[in-house]
Amino acid sequence: MKRRQLLLAGGAGALGGLLAACGGGEPADVQTLADGREGALAVGAASAARVVIVGGGMAGGTLAKYLRLWSNGTIDVTLVERDARYTSCILSSLVLTGQRTLGSLRFTYDALRTKYGVKVVTGEVVEVDAAAARVRLADGTSLQGDRLVLATGIDFDPVPGLSNPNRMPHAWKAGAQTTLLASQLAAMPSGGTVVMTIPKVPYRCPPGPYERACLLADWLKARKPGSKLLVLDANPDFVTEKDNFSRAFFDLHGGVIEYRTNAEVLSADAASMTVTTSQGKVHGDVINLIPRQRAPAIIAGAGLANATEGRFAAVDVLSYASTAAPLVHVIGDSSATLQPKAGHIANQEAKVCADALLRIFAGEDPDPAPVTNSACFSTITMTKASWLEAVFQYDPAARTMVAVPAASGASDGWNGDYFEDMGKWFRALMADSLG
Ligand SMILES: Cc1cc2nc3c(=O)[nH]c(=O)nc-3n(C[C@H](O)[C@H](O)[C@H](O)COP(=O)(O)OP(=O)(O)OC[C@H]3O[C@@H](n4cnc5c(N)ncnc54)[C@H](O)[C@@H]3O)c2cc1C
Repeated sequence: MKRRQLLLAGGAGALGGLLAACGGGEPADVQTLADGREGALAVGAASAARVVIVGGGMAGGTLAKYLRLWSNGTIDVTLVERDARYTSCILSSLVLTGQRTLGSLRFTYDALRTKYGVKVVTGEVVEVDAAAARVRLADGTSLQGDRLVLATGIDFDPVPGLSNPNRMPHAWKAGAQTTLLASQLAAMPSGGTVVMTIPKVPYRCPPGPYERACLLADWLKARKPGSKLLVLDANPDFVTEKDNFSRAFFDLHGGVIEYRTNAEVLSADAASMTVTTSQGKVHGDVINLIPRQRAPAIIAGAGLANATEGRFAAVDVLSYASTAAPLVHVIGDSSATLQPKAGHIANQEAKVCADALLRIFAGEDPDPAPVTNSACFSTITMTKASWLEAVFQYDPAARTMVAVPAASGASDGWNGDYFEDMGKWFRALMADSLG
């Protein structure tokens, strides 16, 4: 199969033909696109090229695999990841309701190493030299690429007053905080109040907080009768999939969920278990505080956080090259594009980037008309899901990826079949990214 066919097959074919989307990318004014096209690297043959990737998540793992696959193993790919295994955020809210274990969301890097010949280094990158395409690890090692790709995901703004974030876990990076929040919820007496906060856009997985709220509301009804879920949204309205989420919030779960908009978190106090917002102070027995998000500090430290008020990296979406450093590419949640910050999109961006790098190493320009797609299933109850789909294509006038309305849409409601499809979609996406 040719590269271009595979780019599309990664969504529509391999993922079972069901394209669904996380809506809501960056605001339209955050794009600062490169002035010019990048030139060919000074490496003559593809066999000479070395790519260093930081971050072995949905974006970095997919990139490492497809660079090796599409180059027939001629590109030298080193993947640096701080954790020995990847833990998927996708489906991690089901850990809160006891429907999945964190172990079922863990994936090794064995296939990248053994099937594709990726050099996987377990380590923490502490410094990026963007001009030189070089990184330094915590153990002092330096890694030099002809191109450097940063696929580092997100980090969180500190919350004023909250010295111990574990008292109000975000559980927005799957891991220890996910099991911590699950145990806090399990220990809460019936009739208690759970508070969940939703940060201002752009944040990781636009439908994610709303689907978590629906799932928790359903769980509270069954396991903690008489409890309430107070959802404090910093945004003026549902960020995405409004039809399904508003029906779920106000009708299906109306007796449990109270939804307040324009409620931005200003500070938190763990001793009194209160959160102060722009709409007043609230108390919760359990507080799931999801802070505002940004690319990790190494991106800002390298001078690459030049979009979204200095939060994320502006890129040329034909190759995902940083607009600030032409030898560095930024993919996945760390980059600023009009596509949502989502695992499915991270996988797609990685394939566009892999294709572009191969062309660049061969002395060609990147594909001038990339297409990506995005999928999100949302748990509306513990057994039923909805879905949202979108396809994005390059707009040469705006030099950005824009949603194609005719190829985008959402399910009309939710059912058990979509819940089952969610599991199939997840297995296919993970196999495509890290398998
Ligand atoms: C509850 C929840 C539900 C979600 N549901 C969906 C869904 O249904 N569909 C969907 O498409 N998306 C979903 N998402 C979003 C999805 O998980 C993210 O968008 C996706 O993981 C982004 O991929 P990434 O590669 O950019 O970041 P990540 O997958 O987070 O990978 C980044 C990697 O970089 C590593 N790293 C970072 N800094 C360094 C460093 N300095 N040195 C070494 N390693 C480093 C990290 O350890 C991590 O492994 C969900 C997210 C959440 C929180």
